[in-house]
Amino acid sequence: MTSEHSPELAARAAQQHVVVIGGGIGGLVAARECAKVGMRVTLLEASETLGGSIRTAELDGVVVDVGAESFATRGGHVRALVDELGLGDSVVSPQGGGAWLCGIPDAEDAPLPAGSLLGIPANPFQDDVRRIIGWRGAWRAYIDRLRPPLTVGHERSLGRLVGSRMGARVRDRLVAPVTAGVYSADPDDVDTDVAAPGLNAALTRIGSLSGAVGLLAAERKGKVPGAAVLGLVGGMGRLVEALRADLAAYGVELRTGTRAIRLDREAGRWTVGIESLSDEGADAPAETSLTATGVIVATAEPPARHLIDPHVSGLGDPGAAPAIEIVTLLLDAPELDAAPRGSGVLTVPGSHTAKALTHSTAKWGWLREAAAGRHLVRVSFGSQGEPAATAALDDAAAAALALSEASALLGVALREPQLLAAHRARHVQAQPSSLIGATERRAAIRTAVTAISGLAVVGAWVAGTGLAQVIPDAVAEADRLRAGLLWD
Ligand SMILES: Cc1cc2nc3c(=O)[nH]c(=O)nc-3n(C[C@H](O)[C@H](O)[C@H](O)COP(=O)(O)OP(=O)(O)OC[C@H]3O[C@@H](n4cnc5c(N)ncnc54)[C@H](O)[C@@H]3O)c2cc1C
Repeated sequence: MTSEHSPELAARAAQQHVVVIGGGIGGLVAARECAKVGMRVTLLEASETLGGSIRTAELDGVVVDVGAESFATRGGHVRALVDELGLGDSVVSPQGGGAWLCGIPDAEDAPLPAGSLLGIPANPFQDDVRRIIGWRGAWRAYIDRLRPPLTVGHERSLGRLVGSRMGARVRDRLVAPVTAGVYSADPDDVDTDVAAPGLNAALTRIGSLSGAVGLLAAERKGKVPGAAVLGLVGGMGRLVEALRADLAAYGVELRTGTRAIRLDREAGRWTVGIESLSDEGADAPAETSLTATGVIVATAEPPARHLIDPHVSGLGDPGAAPAIEIVTLLLDAPELDAAPRGSGVLTVPGSHTAKALTHSTAKWGWLREAAAGRHLVRVSFGSQGEPAATAALDDAAAAALALSEASALLGVALREPQLLAAHRARHVQAQPSSLIGATERRAAIRTAVTAISGLAVVGAWVAGTGLAQVIPDAVAEADRLRAGLLWD
């Protein structure tokens, strides 16, 4: 619908004022959907910058992503937005080869095996698999081929499914590093049907888990051409900048340094209590309020619950949100030119302090050029139920720990004088969508929120983590709110 199509609707849209709380990707996309049809939109962002978990930092002149660095091509939604915003020519594929696995008990670091699904191998005797799980692990995994598929029935827990069919070595050495790196979660807590749709059904059809992985891989090959994830030349921060410019062109009022602290509702209208955090010289943040016909809450889970709790019943218990830290290092280290660990490293849980490392200048060609001979690596700390080891450290100590972890994970001795600059970013990740029970929990929250007219909630804690989930969900929710305001 555009304002040109119906003068009456356009007039009705112009009478609406939607306040969007939170300027991460969910809030930016939802604000755009409302502004598109001519609604007045005000977006409040507590911090001084837009983007939320899409965050950039400058290390000695090199601008680099210190939050999300790529997007999944699944569904095509992110790519469509990128194209709409005129960034299509800047889309790039990652390079640098596959990731490596470090911290394998009694074995050398090794590339992650090819052709696996969430670390589950299609063939346990394949050389690159056997190198990691050993002959003992390979023979144990082979039992999967001999057991009837229904021995374990339909198993929701990925860890239990893999453990019972292919043994502890496949679960702990191959699957756990992937679930820790991707979902910050233990494989036992991961919902097979969400993380690997179709796997249980393929297992029943073909009779073994490894066979099911092979079958799904073959089917995927036929269907999805190209990379599973893509990036942007210049980094994902460009998506935020393009959205900011687009929103400004639509006339959206963007208020950074402004936190929503309260939501009140009377006679069908909302009052959003706000405090301005950027009033220089003020002893206490200045409090004021905005009135609105519609509100879209687009923050992380704790502030969202605080705001909507008085109005929405049946929200259930809050989800655990892993606190993670990313320490990015700019290094003078020609020994990394050969990308000794491909595009990065996952660790076997418990083997290292860091959970993963990305060799960013090996992974992104544009960054390699921007870094002009130097190297950038991101070291990730923290996982589900386990605080980041850097959390209690000051910045210098966190950088030193990241440097020693990078040395260990890249298999190259990196010394302190080689460290040119470091940046540390703290993130509270939404509860991973692939956890058992997360789908039902999110559906219940959605149902509860939908019952309140003029209210919508978007973002990773309700949509699932990742841009490929947050963006289409924000479009759909903004559309629902829009329709309610225009036709109710
Ligand atoms: C380190 C890291 C790496 C990631 N990498 C990828 C990746 O490569 N690809 C991918 O697809 N996904 C990735 N993700 C996930 C993805 O970034 C997130 O799922 C997504 O960006 C979340 O967006 P959001 O809008 O839900 O929330 P957020 O990005 O958290 O934004 C919420 C915003 O609300 C603001 N806010 C909070 N409270 C208030 C308030 N009271 N008033 C006003 N504003 C408020 C916050 O300041 C913040 O800006 C990554 C996440 C992290 C943490």
